[in-house]
Amino acid sequence: MPGSPYESPNSPNHGPTPLAEKPYRFVSSVKPEPKRSGPAGHAVFAGGDGPVIAAVLHFTITTLTPLHVALGIMGIVRSQQGEEFAALPAMVLRHVDEGNREPVRLPILPGSSLKGAVRAMAEAISPSCVPVADPRVRALLGKHNRCNDVQALCPACRLFGSSGYAGHVSIGDIMFARGDLRRHKSPLLWKPGRDSAFASRYARQGRLQGRKFYVHRSPAEGDDVRVVIKSGASASGRIVYAGGRREELGLLVAALGADPDHPFPIKIGGGKPVGLGSVLINIDRVVILEHTSVEKFLRHTGRLGGVINSEQLEAGLDVAGESAAQWLREQIQLARRTGVLLDDPYQQLREILARDGLQKTAPSGPY
Ligand SMILES: [Zn+2]
Repeated sequence: MPGSPYESPNSPNHGPTPLAEKPYRFVSSVKPEPKRSGPAGHAVFAGGDGPVIAAVLHFTITTLTPLHVALGIMGIVRSQQGEEFAALPAMVLRHVDEGNREPVRLPILPGSSLKGAVRAMAEAISPSCVPVADPRVRALLGKHNRCNDVQALCPACRLFGSSGYAGHVSIGDIMFARGDLRRHKSPLLWKPGRDSAFASRYARQGRLQGRKFYVHRSPAEGDDVRVVIKSGASASGRIVYAGGRREELGLLVAALGADPDHPFPIKIGGGKPVGLGSVLINIDRVVILEHTSVEKFLRHTGRLGGVINSEQLEAGLDVAGESAAQWLREQIQLARRTGVLLDDPYQQLREILARDGLQKTAPSGPY
């Protein structure tokens, strides 16, 4: 079969059939130990050019391959043509438009899904802890085990929060258009082999291989029916960065793949090994908030967030286009200078997530 990842049965080689190339790689775990310090807190924002800032990042997200954000259960799905079929359904939200009485069902990417994916990348490219539960991994982590003192948090815990500290990043749910859903058939995914896989793939000679990230691949075809957000769809979203340090915002922008000098697509959602979930995030506009609006924000929403109206979040210095890019560059440079963003793992992550990976097709069988 041309293009098959498997060796032909007539191959002169004997022995076990070679497997397809693995669709993931590791960001090396050779990193300095977590650089911990007290967080900015939630009441120290002074506005203007200080070290602690608040900003709203307006972004556009574009799917480069189908995006599957699922409930994790099989369901019966009805197409717009009225056809019913069993599939892994997409997450949809009943949305009531002001001008429209009938609720419409829109496909969504929950802000929490995006936040989780971005946190994993931020942890890999900064001197941060690795918050995992697996005792075999914890035994190998040493000082990289999760932070447990609110006054000594690593950059990722300061940015995204830790037990006892709420973090500074909130990402709203992203709504796609009604017509963006498609039926997609991908290969069935299997659970990784357990003990043997851990020993051979994730740890070597008592050392962890690093952080695992799936590469970009064009989707493989198979028998598993999923409802996905189609490739080429785009939607807009908003990240509120409330009163954190500038360099931590720089780390966030780098982990979104939105560095104006080094943009790269990231992977989110289900089906990553079979080529789903490649998305590109572009920050189009930044609103740098003034002291008064942030004070209101903190007073009215409290640490756990809450309702904040859009006017408050728009009352600030609005920068777009090249000015926004320049402002983002400055925060990233500060992150590099202060050692919050580490050049070597950042480069490794960009190579793993290089967009030209999409020129290859994901494996359709075991790897
Ligand atoms: Zn931490």
